[in-house]
Amino acid sequence: MPAAPHRPGPYSPLMLQALASIVGDEHVLTDPDLVTGYVTDWTGRFTGAVKAVVRPGTTEEVCTVLAQCYQEGVAVVPQGGNTGLVGGGVPRSGEVVLSMLRLDEVTDGHDGMLTAGAGTTLSGLHRAAAGRNQFVGIDTSARDSATIGGMVATNGGGIHTVRFGRVRDQLHDVAVALVNGTHLPSILVPGNPAADLWRRVCGSEGTLAVVLSATVRTGRPAAQRLVTLVPSADRDVDALARKMMVLPGLWALEVMGGSEIELTAAMLQRRPPATAECLLLAELRGAGALDDQALTAIGDLDAVVATQPSEQEELWAFRHNLSLAVRSLGTPLTKVDVSLSLASIGQLKAALATLAGEPNAYLWGHLLTGPTGHPVVNAHINITADVQPDIVFDIVEGLGGSAVGEHGVGVMKRHRLDPEAADTAELIRLKQRFDSRGLLNPGVLVPDRGRSAEQI
Ligand SMILES: Cc1cc2nc3c(=O)[nH]c(=O)nc-3n(C[C@H](O)[C@H](O)[C@H](O)COP(=O)(O)OP(=O)(O)OC[C@H]3O[C@@H](n4cnc5c(N)ncnc54)[C@H](O)[C@@H]3O)c2cc1C
Repeated sequence: MPAAPHRPGPYSPLMLQALASIVGDEHVLTDPDLVTGYVTDWTGRFTGAVKAVVRPGTTEEVCTVLAQCYQEGVAVVPQGGNTGLVGGGVPRSGEVVLSMLRLDEVTDGHDGMLTAGAGTTLSGLHRAAAGRNQFVGIDTSARDSATIGGMVATNGGGIHTVRFGRVRDQLHDVAVALVNGTHLPSILVPGNPAADLWRRVCGSEGTLAVVLSATVRTGRPAAQRLVTLVPSADRDVDALARKMMVLPGLWALEVMGGSEIELTAAMLQRRPPATAECLLLAELRGAGALDDQALTAIGDLDAVVATQPSEQEELWAFRHNLSLAVRSLGTPLTKVDVSLSLASIGQLKAALATLAGEPNAYLWGHLLTGPTGHPVVNAHINITADVQPDIVFDIVEGLGGSAVGEHGVGVMKRHRLDPEAADTAELIRLKQRFDSRGLLNPGVLVPDRGRSAEQI
């Protein structure tokens, strides 16, 4: 059985004083105006009460804060850039929010790897890598705020997943703190009693340990880039993606619809670069003739091909600004991410179009290679109405897909997990072992079948 959910009691003023003595008065926030940005998620859908936001500046301070909370029986919500979309990084009922943003130092690891403090933003990591003539293959549109700690905790995906896999595939090691403040500087060390954590800390969403830093693999930046936007019909896009996916220079492959491009174009006040039922945005990198490579997949389709950096950024802007464009609509917005076979995208659109009230559904996502080699889309679905996410999840599962995409489970989807599934059973076992009192991120990820997010 999962650990019983923690019910926080009132804090003593002494508790807040103790936290302030660890991190300094200015880093314990209790003023409602100051904590606002820490208690509501990016979508505005998930919010909860917090007694204090604590902002440690060093690994030692993180461990001491955790030890203090553990001693007092106070639950803790680890938080990075608060860009999570499933409600896992905001408090629910009076926990301490442990903001990791001040741990943002990047240092050289061995073999050209980089060790980034958990609070380093992806942009900060990219800058540090570029300054060393290196490249890190972890990237998303939320790069200016999302942190490496959050990406490890969610085992995030992103733009380069098709080439480099998810975050777990790009990690060499991780330093963590356990709920009682024990510091494990390397969970890869042979004989480490917490070695089990290595398999599961990626994707544990702050429920097993607090990520302190991550050592990531790097590569050399590629000499050349080519970005292309290729029009298609929904029924043909799977075949087109299969051709793209075998290109040796492929670094990114995204799918979106014509209405999505038009929406972003309107927000950016630019002309849509192409129109079609469905479009693939691909980026190739390497040393050879990238245009010849791209042509083998594009054939005689009327694609936009960008070889100059300014044109490439212009094309990517239509993808990177999609989330902001739908958010700017200002209507109620239901936002979920799921994964399903790309071949089903037309059926998914048709099913979403029949939702009550016929709201607009905007969808896009990263493509990756599925277990049997077929293209899978990590689809970000945005519906301009207040729709029960479970209705969308049922549709997706009915098409053979999964309600869990790359954004994680959080509080939004944990009732969809099957506690008997091997991966989930392992998580429950590790939760008992590493956080038997249920003080780390209670109410998140660890399944509670039958209870929806609204009941938690
Ligand atoms: C515009 C936009 C685009 C996005 N695109 C992508 C995408 O392409 N791919 C993708 O995977 N996600 C994407 N996301 C979702 C989000 O950016 C990722 O889930 C990201 O990993 C969250 O990082 P964060 O630092 O903001 O974490 P938070 O939102 O602060 O937290 C997310 C989860 O991680 C836990 N956590 C955070 N830091 C730590 C830590 N140091 N130790 C332990 N647990 C921790 C939290 O408790 C929570 O459960 C996108 C979000 C937005 C808003």
